[in-house]
This record gives sequence, structure tokens and C-alpha cells, in this order.
Amino acid sequence: MGSTTRDYYRILGLSRAASPDDIKKAFRRLARQYHPDLHSGAAKSEMERKFKELNEAYEVLSDPEKRKQYDQRSSSTTWSRSETHAKGRAKSDDFGFTSRQTQSGFGGGFADFFENLFGEQRQSPSPGFNEQGEDVETTVEVSLRDVYWGVTKRVSLLEPVPCATCGGSGSLRGRICHACFGTGARAESRVIEVKIPAGIQDGTKMRVAGKGRPGGNGGKRGDLYLHVKIKPGKVFHREGDDLHAVLPVWPWEAALGAEVTVPTLTQPVRVKIPAGSAAESKLRLKGKGLPTASGGQGDLLLTLQIIMPRAISEEARTLYQQLARQSHPDPRSEIIAKSQHD
Ligand SMILES: [Zn+2]
Repeated sequence: MGSTTRDYYRILGLSRAASPDDIKKAFRRLARQYHPDLHSGAAKSEMERKFKELNEAYEVLSDPEKRKQYDQRSSSTTWSRSETHAKGRAKSDDFGFTSRQTQSGFGGGFADFFENLFGEQRQSPSPGFNEQGEDVETTVEVSLRDVYWGVTKRVSLLEPVPCATCGGSGSLRGRICHACFGTGARAESRVIEVKIPAGIQDGTKMRVAGKGRPGGNGGKRGDLYLHVKIKPGKVFHREGDDLHAVLPVWPWEAALGAEVTVPTLTQPVRVKIPAGSAAESKLRLKGKGLPTASGGQGDLLLTLQIIMPRAISEEARTLYQQLARQSHPDPRSEIIAKSQHD
């Protein structure tokens, strides 16, 4: 047959034997997953497209009369194909992104997020008593400069609020509410300020009490867990409380010694390069690192990198020729010896 009807069972991840209850459950689960409020950029339009498809599938399959007509229209070959798809899809959904929403601030996944707020599918153990809100996890990125001084970060969290269009019921005059995609909830962003102390380590999990999701029946808010991620610096990198950087020097600065200006996390400082410094040797600047847990300060270590000028003058050339005439050990003898063992 020439029909281009979409495979509605496949969209819902169900087989043709699905009960009306299975259809409803699958719809609600996927509607939460695709909720466009929770996505941005390219993912958002993709989710909007998926939701439209889902909605269309649900409108047909949830109506016994329309479902019957649909089943009659689609051929038995389509049927067996969609069964295979349904199995594959249900499996991937079990491990899909519903349970991996930590980045956007939804700790326990989207389904839990709505279910806990609206008490759906979960009976409160003691109805009438207030219930503490869920904990939320999110990641905050700080710079090395922030680690040096400490910083107050504004963290944006998404929080469920009942849908104003349908009053949280998910439907409007017998149809799915388009404002909340039938979930009865919208996500609203809430900005909070969090103080990050100086000297914080990468990967620290900070607990911010009472900044999680609101509780039920006037219960306390849950807690916020912040994963602190330190952005690698362009010049400095951190090792414990010390900072490291590469310091380019001219050959004559290394050979004869020099006083040069070097960067630190605060302001540039003057430093003496000792005469006869070898390439890759390190200069230690005491107390120019990061604050330590014990109230001290780490060091800044500069590794000398001897660089050659791009072009040399005729005069420099003469000087190099004089240098070349002197006797030097072969700088390659070590790698030639080592290369025998590679
Ligand atoms: Zn709504």
C-alpha cells in the first residue's frame, strides 16, 4: 500500500500488543524525556520534532477507534518490522538520557523530577507530613585566578513549576497541553550565588545546604551539590598548590644571566635568570603559587625554554661562527646511545 503513515508503535517504543495503559505510560515517559524546556540549541529543535511525532502517535493510539483504523491500514510486513524496532528501542531507553541529566541540574533524571514534585506514581509514606526536597547536582567551572582569590559564582538551576496553562494537569479540554507537552510541569531557571573558597581543588564536591529542590507540603529544600571544575590556564598549570609555566629565554640570557619580567597570577614580577642556566632548568618563585589549605601559599615554577631568533643578523652570524669553532661535546651522543634500546 502507498501510505506513508509513520510507525506510531515504533515512536512509542511499543509492540502492537501494547495495552492502553502501556501506551499511556510510554507516552508520559517519552514526553518527559523530550520536554523542550530541558534542552537548548540543536537538541531543543530535535526534541520539539520528536515531541510532535510522539504527540501524533499518542493521539491516534490512545483513541480505540483511531487505533483500530490505523492497525487495519498498516500492513503485516510493517508490523513485524516495527516489533523488532520496538524491542531495540525499549532497550536503549532503559539506559538513555532520562537518567543522565546531572549537567542541567536535574539530579535524579527528568522522570523523577516531575514524579517527586507532583507525587505521581509515588506514594508519600506518611501523607500529610512534609517531605524534604530532592538534592540537586551541578557543575561549576572556575579559573585559576578564581582559585587564587576565591570567587562568588552565579549558578543557574532548573526547577519544576506547575504548568500555568493547564494548571498542572497535563491536559486541556481533553487534549494534551501543548505548553508543557502533557507533563503538567514547566522548568523554570533559578539563579543562586555560591561562594567558592580560595585554594579549592579540582573535582571538589561542595555541599550547599538548602539550595536543592523545594520540599513537598512545606518541607525543607534539598541540598545542592556543586562539582567544582578548574579550567586549565593558558599559561599556568596547577600541580597541587604550585603553579607551573614555561619561560622562553634567549640563548644569551641563559648563558650570560639576565633580569627579566615574568607573569604571575597577580601581576608580572622581575626575576633574575642565573648565568649559565641550562635549558629545561627551573626557577622557583616562592609564594607565587596558590593558597594552601593550611593558610600558606604554593610556589610558581618556571621552566626555561631556550628559543632561537627567527632570523639572525650578519653580525650574529659571525659571532655564531666564532662559537662553532670552539670545541663542544656532541649534544646528540646521548640520544644516539639511547636509540639502541628503542
Ligand atoms: Zn500544561
